[in-house]
Amino acid sequence: MLGPVILAASRSDRMRRLVSAAPVTKQVVDRFIPGEDVDEIVPIVRDLTAKGLELTMDVVGEDITTPEQAAAARDAYLELIDRLKPLELGSRAEMSVKLSMFGQALDGGHELALANVRPVVEAAAGIGTTVTLDAEDHTTLDSMFAIHEELRKDFPETGCVIQAYLFRTEADARRLAAAGSRVRLVKGAYKEPAEVAYQDKHEIDKAYVRVLRTLMEGDGYPMVGSHDPRLIAIAQELAHRAGRKPDEYEFQMLYGIRGEEHLRLAAEGHRMRVYTAYGTDWYGYFMRRLAEKPANLRFFARSMVTK
Ligand code: FAD
Repeated sequence: MLGPVILAASRSDRMRRLVSAAPVTKQVVDRFIPGEDVDEIVPIVRDLTAKGLELTMDVVGEDITTPEQAAAARDAYLELIDRLKPLELGSRAEMSVKLSMFGQALDGGHELALANVRPVVEAAAGIGTTVTLDAEDHTTLDSMFAIHEELRKDFPETGCVIQAYLFRTEADARRLAAAGSRVRLVKGAYKEPAEVAYQDKHEIDKAYVRVLRTLMEGDGYPMVGSHDPRLIAIAQELAHRAGRKPDEYEFQMLYGIRGEEHLRLAAEGHRMRVYTAYGTDWYGYFMRRLAEKPANLRFFARSMVTK
């Protein structure tokens, strides 16, 4: 039951100040967010790709309050893409973006987010890679899907994320499982009300399998975003039954979670992409990782007491 409490705290400014100022926070944060700037992250990109892994890069940040912050977020991605260019990784290092960080929640936010994300998608295409739009809370999704559709007119490989816990997702998956589309399926990481989302873990898992079947049987490119061993095994079975080859779908996991499994799947010949977040505005991202596994919170609390 701790998860919903932590998710509520992830939206509290008071908790943000408290947690961010704690002296020992950084070493715990580093497990999930291995760098604060592009200089720290580039060697990690080199290291992971040398191990046969692929990446999707997230400059952390969300809930921004001014258009200037949104423009700064865009520029941070442009700088990253510039720094990745000489590595010539192509689609082995793609970008994940949260539209809230590009201004989606501000006045005129839909247009602002589209205007900010478009140059990032263009720059990514310029180095042979793609962008995936992360899914945030359910109130943002109609705008996210509309931006996704708009971007796909010029950049058809732009991906998006769907969340198994939402009732709407089965219909979204049917719409998106079409030729050329790239769709990441995750369980969902936000605190959502019972009117729009399954609350029970077992129900969410069952929904995940239903949606995954739709994606695997469809004509798009499914990206299986989960660390759940049962779902990984089911995904392999569904891919096999749908006649998909190993390069016709991929697994995705978060940096810092089940790292051995990343390597195992890659060694078995699967495409394995590691979602790698970096930056200084890590609070929301970090708190969602704590909420997913309360043992993380105990580790965090213990380190605050023992230092
Ligand atoms: P769970 O049942 O939560 O976990 C299965 C096992 O994985 C656990 O038993 C544990 O061993 C391990 N594990 C899972 N989480 C943690 C953790 N935080 N710390 C330590 N161990 C852990 N959510 C969104 O709402 N929008 C997004 O755009 C989004 N993008 C994502 C991208 C990727 C690549 C991934 C992997 C997840 C993303 N998520 C996103 C988060 C997702 O919704 C889940 O909250 C998260 O993946 C945990 O669910 P799970 O499928 O791993 O299953």
